[in-house]
Amino acid sequence: MDRTKHLNSINLNETGKCVLYVMSRDQRVADNHALISAQQRALKLNLPLAVVFCLQKNTGYRAREHYTFMLDGLRQVEDKLNKLNIPFIMLIGNAFERLSGIFHHTNPESVFFDLNPLIGYQKLLQKLSSLAKFPIYVVDNHNIVPVWVASDNKQVGAYTLRPRIHRLIGEYLVEPSSLKKHPIKWPGKVMKMSELDNTIQSIVTKIKSNEVKIQEPTGENEALKKLNKFIKETMPNYGLNKNNPTFNSQSGLSIYLHFGQLSSLRVALEIQKYAFKNKLELGILNSPKMPLGGDGLQSSIDAFLEELIVRKELADNFCYYEQNYCSTKGASVWAQQTLNDHAKDEREYIYSFEELRIAKTHDNAWNSAQRQLTNTGKMHGYMRMYWAKKILEWTENVDTALEYAIRLNDFYSNDGGDPNGYAGIMWAICGIHDRPWFDRPVYGKIRYMNYAGLNRKFDLSSYINTWQ
Ligand SMILES: Cc1cc2nc3c(=O)[nH]c(=O)nc-3n(C[C@H](O)[C@H](O)[C@H](O)COP(=O)(O)OP(=O)(O)OC[C@H]3O[C@@H](n4cnc5c(N)ncnc54)[C@H](O)[C@@H]3O)c2cc1C
Repeated sequence: MDRTKHLNSINLNETGKCVLYVMSRDQRVADNHALISAQQRALKLNLPLAVVFCLQKNTGYRAREHYTFMLDGLRQVEDKLNKLNIPFIMLIGNAFERLSGIFHHTNPESVFFDLNPLIGYQKLLQKLSSLAKFPIYVVDNHNIVPVWVASDNKQVGAYTLRPRIHRLIGEYLVEPSSLKKHPIKWPGKVMKMSELDNTIQSIVTKIKSNEVKIQEPTGENEALKKLNKFIKETMPNYGLNKNNPTFNSQSGLSIYLHFGQLSSLRVALEIQKYAFKNKLELGILNSPKMPLGGDGLQSSIDAFLEELIVRKELADNFCYYEQNYCSTKGASVWAQQTLNDHAKDEREYIYSFEELRIAKTHDNAWNSAQRQLTNTGKMHGYMRMYWAKKILEWTENVDTALEYAIRLNDFYSNDGGDPNGYAGIMWAICGIHDRPWFDRPVYGKIRYMNYAGLNRKFDLSSYINTWQ
């Protein structure tokens, strides 16, 4: 069972003075295989170990609140690492320049990265590993089955990825080994985050606020508390209620998973323990079939793991193997064709970005979903599908629809800027991981959703009353 990919052909830097782990998407100390691997190597070679984090000044569409949530989480990471005698080195600025600088300065024997499938990060890794004079490894800490192990190509849909995960998951669903207090002292002084406060603050104030107060407390301890509460209180009815936006039926874990404060492996392991206690097993271990949801604890466990594992890992698969994960070019041929055939269809309503942002459409269900998002930083998963599909229907063209949906989702959603978001939006607007449906105006053969369908599915007026 290995989660590591060797990115260059160098096996050892004999003159190397330390081992580094460059933390990026997995911002936690517990259950962090990249950190564990880096420590194991450092112990074997009797070298000091440090964790490096490069703070970017440019946050894309992400808001100040997300940046602050991340920084406060990283302060906790720093404290936890210090107790393990592992320094946390924060660099600020251009990642390529700052990382090249620290590599030059510290002469690492080897460097470990965690995995992010998004394009900027992938390009950074390629550039760094082509120039490095030491081994570079990337460790997939974010998926239970590492993305390159599950598949070596872009998967058509959940139905093709699920059997692969089913075959492999038994091997990967295991407790990670624990970290030790690092016995070799880091040579030299490391600047603490608190000493960088003025610089950090000057960056933070320049980032646009979305004025949505994040309700969740940050950090890996809080993430675990939320997980345990979910397992006991909400998960037993997840199979029945997950698609009902009038219930508080989802886990609310996506913010912690997105920032890497919680690993999906830990979530699945805790659910497995709970299942055993209740004399149940995890369906994904036994069968490659899609769970149907419904009543009962077994159905709920299986429906939840379908989302947490199959759907989440499918999103990483998509972004890892498809560079055009935010564009029509990333859609299947049939979807590109049908969207093109309907490009000139007349739209009954056209809304500007601002009209969408402030929820000024003719559709009170859509406006409610948008308000749920801008008031709380979250939109119920079921409404997210409807929300994105209507943006396709009410903008001039597909490219504009994608751009508006991504901007709104990344800026307001606490879990935005994530492969799940790009895959979710591409599913709704460009039909990825889906099949062709009946041809209709504007959508072509992309799956359609309408207001009447929401009404049939749940108590829509109650949802609208909550968010009007
Ligand atoms: C248009 C659109 C945009 C989306 N944007 C995002 C986003 O920015 N970030 C994000 O994390 N998810 C996104 N999703 C997927 C899904 O809606 C959210 O993961 C989920 O609603 C988060 O809430 P939760 O943690 O309470 O979910 P739960 O229902 O409790 O699910 C648990 C976990 O499973 C994973 N998951 C659940 N549903 C999906 C899914 N459809 N695809 C992939 N993984 C899933 C997530 O990691 C989630 O945290 C989007 C979906 C759509 C249709």
